[in-house]
Order: sequence, then C-alpha cells, then structure tokens
Amino acid sequence: ESYGALGLDSFSRSLTLQRKAEEEIPEATSSNHRGKGSYAPYPMIYMEEGNGAELTDVDGNSYIDFHCGVSAIINGHGPEAQEEAVKRQVERGPYFATTYELEYETAKLMNELVPGSDLTKFISTGTEAVMSALRLARAYTGKEKVLKFEGMYHGHTDYALVNVHPTVENLGTGRNATKIPETAGVPGSTLEAVETVPWNDTTLLEEKLERQGDEIAAVITEAVMSNSGLLWPQDGYLEDLRRLTREHDVLLILDEVVTGFRMGLHGAQGYFDIEPDLSIFGKAMANGYPCAALTGREDVMRFLESGPDKATFMGTFSGNPLVVAAAHANLELLNSVGERGYADLYERGERLTEGFEEILTDAGHDVFIPEFAGFFCLHFTDGESDPSQWHDWRDISPHTDAATYEQFASRMVGEGIFLPPKGGRINLMHAHTDEHIDEALEAAKESISHV
Ligand code: PLP
Repeated sequence: ESYGALGLDSFSRSLTLQRKAEEEIPEATSSNHRGKGSYAPYPMIYMEEGNGAELTDVDGNSYIDFHCGVSAIINGHGPEAQEEAVKRQVERGPYFATTYELEYETAKLMNELVPGSDLTKFISTGTEAVMSALRLARAYTGKEKVLKFEGMYHGHTDYALVNVHPTVENLGTGRNATKIPETAGVPGSTLEAVETVPWNDTTLLEEKLERQGDEIAAVITEAVMSNSGLLWPQDGYLEDLRRLTREHDVLLILDEVVTGFRMGLHGAQGYFDIEPDLSIFGKAMANGYPCAALTGREDVMRFLESGPDKATFMGTFSGNPLVVAAAHANLELLNSVGERGYADLYERGERLTEGFEEILTDAGHDVFIPEFAGFFCLHFTDGESDPSQWHDWRDISPHTDAATYEQFASRMVGEGIFLPPKGGRINLMHAHTDEHIDEALEAAKESISHV
C-alpha cells in the first residue's frame, strides 16, 4: 500500500515488534505518551539509532528528528563529548552509594548558568523534582496547599495531575473552577490540597491569593504554557506573578523542564528576566539522559538538609554518576555553543515556522504557530476565534483541530520527517542544519496536499 514516500509495508519489523510487545507491556510501551496509534495508519515506530539530527528505525527508514526526545535532545543524538563522558563513567562503574567530584562540579555549573540558582540537587526525572519542590515549599512555609494553572503539565504525581487538560465545559468558572483529575486514581485528599486558576489572568490570581494565600505554600508554573499549545505570557503577567507571590509569602516555583537550556543558556528565567524561588530542570539539561535538578534560593534550598522540620530528598538513583556525567558534558557543550549557537538555532526555527505557516495557509488551512524560542506548536484551528486573543487553556482548547494535526504528522513521518504526535512541541536542536529545514519544508508541501 502506498502512503507517503514510506509505504505501510516499510514498517514490517516495527509492526511485528509491536504485536509482540502488546502481549508483554500494557499499551505496548512504558510511557503512554508514546503509545499505540500515534502515527496511524503506521504502527508504533521502533527507532534503533540516532546520529546528530537523524534517526533510523528497525526497518532501515530514516528521519530528520523534530520531536527531539520530547524536547530532551538539544545537542543532537550522541554528541561525541557526551558519549565519551558517559563511556568513561561506565568503565569506572555506575554507582557506589557515595558522592563523587563530578556531582559538585555539575551543581557548580548549574549554579553559574541558572540566574535563580544558588544551590542545586539532582534527581532522575522532572516528575520527582516537582514532587520534591512542592514538599520543600510546604516544609519551608508551613502551609499545605499548592496552586497550579489550568492546562499546565508538571509530571505525573497525583498533585500535578489536576486540571491538566480538562474539558472546558466541565470546568465551571475561572473564579471557582472544578478540580478535574487527569486520570483515575488521584485521591480526593490530593484534590483538596491543590488549587487551580486559569493562567495569564492577574485578577483571578490576585483574588485567589487574597482569599487563600495563608494556606498556599507555592505557585508552580511554566514561563510559557508548553504542554498546551505553547501560549506565551501576556505583558507583565510573569512580573505580576512574582510580585503577588512575594506579597503573600508564597514560593514561586518555575518549572523549566521544557524551557531549561532550550530557551537559551539561562532558561526561561534568563529569557524573561524573572526570579523564581525554586526552579526545576530536566529534559535538555542532560540531552536525553534521565537527570533532573531542583535549584533555587539558598535559604529555601538549605531546607533540604537533614534535620527536624526539614524536607527530605532521597533516591537511590538521584544524582547517579552516569547521568550526571551526561549532564555535565552537555552543559559544557552548551556553554561552548554559547549565545551565538542559540541565535543560529532560533534563526533556523523561525525559517521553519514561517515556512510551515506559508505552506499550510496556501493550502487553505487556518493555522496558529506560536512564537519561537527553540520550539513551537503547530495548530490547525477552526478559524472561528482570533488566536492572538488566546491566553489560557480555556481559549485554545475548543478551537484547535487535533485530528488534522495528527494526519499531517503521520504524513510527515511518511516523508521522513519525525514530528511529535498529538499536537506536541516541535523542537529544534543545535545539530539541525539549513538543509534539514529545507527538507522539512519540502515534505510539508507534499504532506499537506493529502490532508
Ligand atoms: N514539567 C514539564 C513542564 C514537563 O513537560 C514534564 C514532562 O514532559 C515534566 C515536568 C515531567 O518531567 P519527566 O517526564 O522527566 O518526569
């Protein structure tokens, strides 16, 4: 059967493997985010190897990668210096249950690069770093509740899985939103401990903190809403957020799992010039290895030391030498890439977003491609509402057409361009070249003619 340049019969090994995996693994893979049907009518794609910006699957098909490990790859797949650093550590051994010099060296690098970071601790995933940050905030302030925003994803702990992607009709008013768990299994007691308001609305946040600021330990946010279409903060909103949290003795936790080392060397906090009390890094910090970090203000971070009334911070694999070696090598590489390298990456990204916009609009589609800083989302829209007026989940969610994106993404995969499924973030990495952008734009012309 013919479907794109890669016909359905080009995936026979992937299909065989998927059928075997279905017998052994629920959803046939570990994270449901990469589950079945992502690139229908293709089967799940079994990638075998990555080199720079290119991937090869088990059937020998090759792709230019714009999924970038769900935003975790910033320096390309397997840069030599990082591979060497990890191999060196493999030869020494993966774990001795003691500290080691590179842990301190890497924390020092983080504290130098991240404006809001006096001290750093490492952990394996963004999810765990968020969990620890929220506990730390409760211990530090002596308050119990946390406030998050509708449409924000902060990993998969119970606390974070409230009003992530709720159906807007079920949400009630912004002032008094229903708390909708993202999954079965979130306890009612957790829902009680989490408050939510729409993002990008200073008045609603101010009212909430006036009413409940003495119960709320922390506000957690991203600087851009990266998991719900990449909406940007309105002018002054991040400053209001900082001012209001200070006024109410509430800690501001900035989730930089996506933005960190993607929006430049100093994270979204450098990009927007904001001062969080705590911030969380993961993904691009270690360029594909499972290493995350919780960083922040010294007096707050010292609450992670052992002692009465302090917050514990544990983990057999927290700060594991293999992944810290990967993070260290990656941060050094990014440092050498420098601002100039990020400027080149942004330039290529802008060419890609502008090219997509022209091609898709010429083909008769309404699209919205939010502003670029290392990543973007491609929305096919219903044309019934002006995207420049979209500021939160309630605005964007009813007007985007996920089904058309999915058809487009599958067609692009068929042309050898690996895009994220399900309307996720499309990412750039330093390993992309101008030729990769040209190829993606050519593929977009071909793909959209079939959608
Ligand atoms: N925070 C944000 C903004 C994320 O996008 C993610 C993951 O996608 C997380 C936290 C959780 O990180 P991890 O998947 O490493 O647990």
